[in-house]
Amino acid sequence: MTIRSLLVANRGEIAVRIVKAAKAMGLRTVQVHSAADADMLAVKLADEAVDIGPPSAAKSYLNIECVVAAAKEAGVDAIHPGYGFLSENAAFAQAITDAGLIFIGPSAEAISLLGDKVKAREVAAAAGVPTVPGSDGLIADIEAARAVTARTGFPVMIKAAAGGGGRGIRIAASMEEFERQFPLASAEAKAAFGDGGLYIEKVIERARHVEVQILGDGVDAIHLFERECSLQRRRQKVWEEAPSCSLPADVRDALCASAVALAKSVGYKGAGTVEYLYDEDAGAFYFIEVNTRIQVEHPVTEMITGVDLVQEMIRIAGGGKLSLRQEDIRLSGHAIECRINAEDPARNFVPGPGTISSLSVPEGEGIRFDTMLYEGYTVPPFYDSLLGKLIVHSTDRAACMTRLEQALKDLKIGGLATTVPLHLALCRDDSVQTGAVHTRFLEPWLEESFQPDAGLEEVA
Ligand code: ADP
Ligand code: ADP
Ligand code: MG
Repeated sequence: MTIRSLLVANRGEIAVRIVKAAKAMGLRTVQVHSAADADMLAVKLADEAVDIGPPSAAKSYLNIECVVAAAKEAGVDAIHPGYGFLSENAAFAQAITDAGLIFIGPSAEAISLLGDKVKAREVAAAAGVPTVPGSDGLIADIEAARAVTARTGFPVMIKAAAGGGGRGIRIAASMEEFERQFPLASAEAKAAFGDGGLYIEKVIERARHVEVQILGDGVDAIHLFERECSLQRRRQKVWEEAPSCSLPADVRDALCASAVALAKSVGYKGAGTVEYLYDEDAGAFYFIEVNTRIQVEHPVTEMITGVDLVQEMIRIAGGGKLSLRQEDIRLSGHAIECRINAEDPARNFVPGPGTISSLSVPEGEGIRFDTMLYEGYTVPPFYDSLLGKLIVHSTDRAACMTRLEQALKDLKIGGLATTVPLHLALCRDDSVQTGAVHTRFLEPWLEESFQPDAGLEEVA
């Protein structure tokens, strides 16, 4: 069935991104919103808007019944879930299918299989993809953990099978610490994700986070190369690049091939990301999880491949076969994305909503700013702090960094504190410039090297 109309079950910059992609394909667009979001940009851009409930996400964006009812009422063919919220909720995908509508993403079965991080490890291993040394399946009790850690050594990570968004992960450096953490981790996972299941992974020290973008049509699957997202704070990505500057060609080939093998083994349909840790010294990569949705950092892949991933998702969901063959995907140049959050770098990144008093956005070749901001818009306090993503593309990494620094200086967001000064400081750091970073780089760097107030005059 061809999709002629689409409802966007999300908010913020990704809702804007999806509305624009759908409009570019000539589709009728319906945007849902909470009572706090009536004046958001995606509502203004969409053909129609539907109020689905109070500001609390639990009562609006996470309310399956309300979202599906809005879609039926509006008479749309399909629903795009964006990222976060219900995007990786198998019950949501199933409810949409049961209502006779199209969920733009993989099947409910694929979401529940790959969304369970323990089952996903099994799927990866079965497809011949190396996983992080750790437990086979869930850890039932301390005795089982003792056997696993005797094999892996310490430190280990205690991870929630249902975790996501950087939450549900603890580190234990010894068995004593493990015994203390284990019940807390289980209770926390139960409260946060409704599932207390835990598993163990060895900590891969000084690893890089690399991830492969995949597209599948249920039969065939291809990759669109990798992204590197090693600059993280609290296990949340802050800055992302494509391609990774650390991978030798043979490792890149093996990494990307492994993601395709995994996707094909489950008949993956839609866009997805296979995440790995890369141990540069050992030249080894290890699977960590699959995200069965569009990812925040998808634009860097679009910049280096020229493929519009959101449009591809819509096409595939409408029953289309992959229009791209692997040999059509060419890697061109280098792209970097900076997440611009409404957080104050000088006050330990405390989120600070507010009204946008002025906005000046950099333009020009190789510059893209994905955002929901406009002058006069009031950022509500109820949701994620992401305001937009500055993405820069150029011929190589060095040229990209130069272009990025200028674009960051030219991005002026008045009315609230943002993470622009952090990104400017990162641009000027020697280790970032040479790409000598890993997932534990940023947090100590913030303590030791970052002067949040330096350079503030440039972003005022
Ligand atoms: P990406 O890997 O695409 O960068 P993130 O981990 O940054 O994704 O998550 C994207 C958004 O989705 C964030 O707003 C994050 O808080 C939210 N998110 C991701 N997974 C979950 C989850 N399991 N539960 C709740 N929120 C989540
Ligand atoms: P989430 O589902 O919250 O995205 P992930 O399993 O993808 O969780 O891990 C998030 C981040 O935590 C990784 O990008 C990495 O920085 C860190 N991490 C996860 N597993 C390990 C590990 N075994 N060793 C070292 N770091 C890890
Ligand atoms: Mg992850």
